[in-house]
Amino acid sequence: MFHNPTDGFSIEHYDLPEVEPRGALVKVGMASICGTDLHIWHGSRKPPLPIIPGHEAMGVVARLGSALRTDAAGAPLREGDRVTWSYIWTCGACYFCTILHEPASCVNRMAYGVGVGCADPPHLNGGFSEYIYLRPGTSIFRIPDSLTDAVVVPTNCALVTMIHVTESAGVRPGQSVVVQGCGPLGLYGSTVARERGADQVIALDTSEARLEVARKFGVDRALNVSGLSDDDVVAKIRELTDGRGADVVIEATGVAEVLRVGLRLPREGGTYATIGPIYQGAVVPLDCFNLIFRRIRLLGVARNDAGHLRSAINFLVRTRSKYPYEQVVGATFPLERIVDGLRLVDERKVMRAAIVP
Ligand SMILES: [Zn+2]
Ligand SMILES: [Zn+2]
Repeated sequence: MFHNPTDGFSIEHYDLPEVEPRGALVKVGMASICGTDLHIWHGSRKPPLPIIPGHEAMGVVARLGSALRTDAAGAPLREGDRVTWSYIWTCGACYFCTILHEPASCVNRMAYGVGVGCADPPHLNGGFSEYIYLRPGTSIFRIPDSLTDAVVVPTNCALVTMIHVTESAGVRPGQSVVVQGCGPLGLYGSTVARERGADQVIALDTSEARLEVARKFGVDRALNVSGLSDDDVVAKIRELTDGRGADVVIEATGVAEVLRVGLRLPREGGTYATIGPIYQGAVVPLDCFNLIFRRIRLLGVARNDAGHLRSAINFLVRTRSKYPYEQVVGATFPLERIVDGLRLVDERKVMRAAIVP
């Protein structure tokens, strides 16, 4: 349980909850540390406290509700099955869910490990825990046997976000795509853009080690932008795109300041999509002249739905032999050593660290 940035974490014990007919109790197999968890730890993201963080997770069904027979895709679901789930729960009953069919805007939405604390029953609402209780209405998916725990664990946040953002940005065959950042999001974004048919995928980062990894994830050009001025970066991207600029640029750094140069990288009429700087105070000045007269489509993308998660799992199955997904989770820690895991990710010594409770 995380109390607050000053008091940190403690191990607490709760009784396992009664499982409702359409709920499920899952024994967590692995839960990886996402940038959001770092923000919660540092206090730049303020969830309800105390909280059991951890939303990027998978596990084994320990108890299945009596009325739950299939997963969200209709496949048979049984106790003992490995599963992952959409960490955003939506109500299915509000105006946005029913009339607009826009669950991302659901007024009652809840996010495991991010948007709900652990003070009230059923308490077990996060992935950094031995068990998590998935309430009725959660979109649960059985994990195919061909995917290991470590390969699948970043799927329900990192990979699903990139499935969502490339869809929203309309990445399609023939395009040039720039990905800012070669962390897990950037790597997945590169593979998804590549598999959607992009002609050219260009990745930017300041770490040579990360750029080296990116070359194995479908990236044609991995550029070290360390020490380059904004003008240099713009010139380089223009040079690689026949003077036009990229069709689509995806920010996957988590650093708001990169929008300054990022918004100069799309071609006229191109798209800029941002997903990373998800903390309060991520404010950057915006060059409206550039935005308007170069007709840049600016997108903020968040809150994936169950369809995106299903696509993400199937994407992994289809492409698992083409890209070294097993390199994403670089270290595992028991629950008691969660702070060591957070530190390692914070210092960018691994792409992802995962908790094995
Ligand atoms: Zn996340
Ligand atoms: Zn709703």
